[in-house]
Parts: sequence; C-alpha cells; structure tokens
Amino acid sequence: MTGRKRSARPPLSIPDRHVSARVQRFPESVIREMTRIADLYGAVNLAQGFPDFDPPKKVLRAAQRALADGANQYSVTWGTVGLREAIVAKARRFNGIEADAEKNVVVTCGATEAMMAAMLSVVDPGDEVIVPEPFYENYGPDAVVSGARARPVPLVPPDWHLDAERLKQAFSARTKAIVVNSPNNPSGRVLTKEELALIADLCDDHDTVAITDEIYEHIVYDGRRHLSLAALPGMADRTITINGVSKTYSATGWRVGWAIAPAGLAAALRRAHDFLTVCAPHAFQVAAEVALGLPETYYTQLARGYQRKRDRFVRALASSGLGCTVPEGAYYVLADFSEFPYPDDRSFAMALVEQLGIATVPGSSFFSRPSNGARYVRFVFAKRDSTLDGAIARLAELDRLREPRGRRGSRPGQRRPRARRPR
Ligand code: GLN
Repeated sequence: MTGRKRSARPPLSIPDRHVSARVQRFPESVIREMTRIADLYGAVNLAQGFPDFDPPKKVLRAAQRALADGANQYSVTWGTVGLREAIVAKARRFNGIEADAEKNVVVTCGATEAMMAAMLSVVDPGDEVIVPEPFYENYGPDAVVSGARARPVPLVPPDWHLDAERLKQAFSARTKAIVVNSPNNPSGRVLTKEELALIADLCDDHDTVAITDEIYEHIVYDGRRHLSLAALPGMADRTITINGVSKTYSATGWRVGWAIAPAGLAAALRRAHDFLTVCAPHAFQVAAEVALGLPETYYTQLARGYQRKRDRFVRALASSGLGCTVPEGAYYVLADFSEFPYPDDRSFAMALVEQLGIATVPGSSFFSRPSNGARYVRFVFAKRDSTLDGAIARLAELDRLREPRGRRGSRPGQRRPRARRPR
C-alpha cells in the first residue's frame, strides 16, 4: 500500500451531490443514447431494438376502438381480466405452461417493468443473481436497484454456448435467482433443451428462482423451437416467465408486458408493480388481448420475415468484412470489427455513425467487464426492407474505415451532427 489515502467514494457519474449512491452506480442506457446520437447525425438507427413498422392492422384498430370505447382510466392494477385470460391461453398454446389468470398473472408496463418488479420481489440486498453474458443492458441497473450482486457466467463465442462448468461453479447458497434470456439479446443464441435442463437442475439443487425473459420467443430461425424453462419438470414452482407485446407484435411503445409466476411470487410481483406504476396502459391492454389471439399463420410469417432479413443482413456484414455468428433467434447481430483499426467499440460505433451514417450499440454495454465486449458492435435488423437497403448500401463503403483516422480526425464525407432538436 502506498501512503496515499484512497477516497472513500467513487467519482460521481452525475455531478450532483444530491443524487443517490444507487443511481450513481449505473450509467445512462447506451442503447437509448445511441438512438439520440442516430437522430443527431441523421443516421440509420440500427441501435435500439425496435421495428420501424407498425403492429398488424387488426391490432391497431383494436387500440383505436379501445380508446374510443372508454378504456382511458386505470385498469385493475395487475391487468384486465380479458388480457390475463388471453395470456393464460397463449402460455398453454405455445409454452406448455399452465397458469391461472387470478393467481399467476401480472400485467406490467412492458417486460422491462416485469423484470424490475421480479428482481425487487425476489432479491434481498446482497443476494447473488446469476446472469449469463452477454446480457441485455437493463439487467445491470435492475440488479443495482434491487441490491442484487450480479454474477456473470459466460456464453462462449463464437457459438455463444453456455459454459456449463462456470455455471455450476457460480451457483452457491447465496444464489437467489438466475436470469435466463433465450433467444438472447444481443448474441442471438437460443438455449438448447440440454442447457435449460442443466439450469433447471441447478435451480432445484440450490433452491433458486429462475427469471426468464422470453420476449423474443417467436423470433427463432431455421426451424428451431423456443422452449420455456417453466415447462420443465418442477420448474413452474420456481420460475417467473416474462414476456410482452413489444417484439412479437411490433408494439414497443405500448408498454404492455407480463409475468407468469407461482402464486406467492405473483402476489409479491403484484405488490411491487402496483407501487411502481399502478397499471399498464389500459387501452393497449385491451388491444393486446386481440394480438394474443392472432392465428398461427401470424407467428410463422413473423419468424419467416425476420429470417429473410437476418439472411440478407448477415450476408451484407460478411461481405463488408465484419465477422459475425449467425443468430439463431431474436433480431440482433453482434459483429466483430477486429479487422478494423479502432481501439474500442465506442470509437468504432462513433466512426460508423459519423462516417457511414449507421448507428449501432457498442458491444461493451452487454458485458460486465467492458473489455470483453470491446471488439463488438450490435446491429438490429428489425427494419423495413427499404431501411435495410439503405443500411446495406452504406455498409458497402465500410472499407473507408480501414484507414486509421487522420490527424485532424475528419475526412471527406464525414457527417456532422445536426442542430440538436428536443425529442
Ligand atoms: N430490447 C431492445 C434493445 O435491446 C430495446 C430496449 C429498450 O430501449 N427498451 O435495444
């Protein structure tokens, strides 16, 4: 030890002494920040994961009707009866999960709130929560807010399989929960039955709760099938299954999600949810009920449409010199830019925005140790074909980024930020 005294407090990430230590511990969302940067540069936004097309017409009309018909005040805090019953029917139809609309279902403001409410309901400060990584950015702040100690376990590239040994080692008497996100954002990995069975066994051995984020369940490729952990023997009693309308029905702005949980945990989730947000938007719950009743063909076309987009986009990445593993599900691709002379993901992502007009998310946002993600950027391909055409045309010019930056940092064709407009 040197004689220098260490400051007891880390530097403030928000320079205001009134801000709580809790909020100082997590940064702004890089995903949402990149959307703002995309707007600033007039770039194609392949950063934040949302489609640039509307939900099915029938579902849109149901929302319009619901507003006109008076669904404009609070609903029952844990969700309308109609939507909860539709969630039960859908979970039976697609997931092999048996639930009771009265006891097991909580409708939330998106899967985002469901995850936060689940963590708050399960975790006491100091408990450990296992999180396979790369992981969706929100899980970090979810852990901070609930007081959990996140324990990352790697999904191993290039195929992003779960490291079984590291997973076994991570479980202990302190393990309160594990977050399982398959299909995985950002890697596109879909866990196999064997991987899920191992998770189930370990949860059983250590009396651990599984919190599953299954928001991409219907976006799986090459004939794969999504499997719900709660459908494995014994797991319904210890699994909180989270989903929502955002990705399956292209309605990310509606903020309708839900959790299915054993009765005790569902009661806890309802409490947390009630005091967080009271209820999800009422009219969109009514419309979500219609969405959940769409026929089989809707789901097969959704997956087929995204598979076409995936194939096109992955081909374009490969011919532009970016390495990637073909995603098995979800609508993201993590691209490896090691062949390009940039020191880290942030500088490459900024060069993509400034010089090619494409916004991505720097890979470090998905890893507990930023250096593990420093050679990746994440692209989302949930975009209209015309948007992808534009992005693919720009990617064809990626060779321009092979040259290290000039001394003055700019070169012909470099974009400048537009005057900042409030969003
Ligand atoms: N899940 C999407 C993503 O990873 C959108 C996240 C969000 O901004 N809520 O980009």
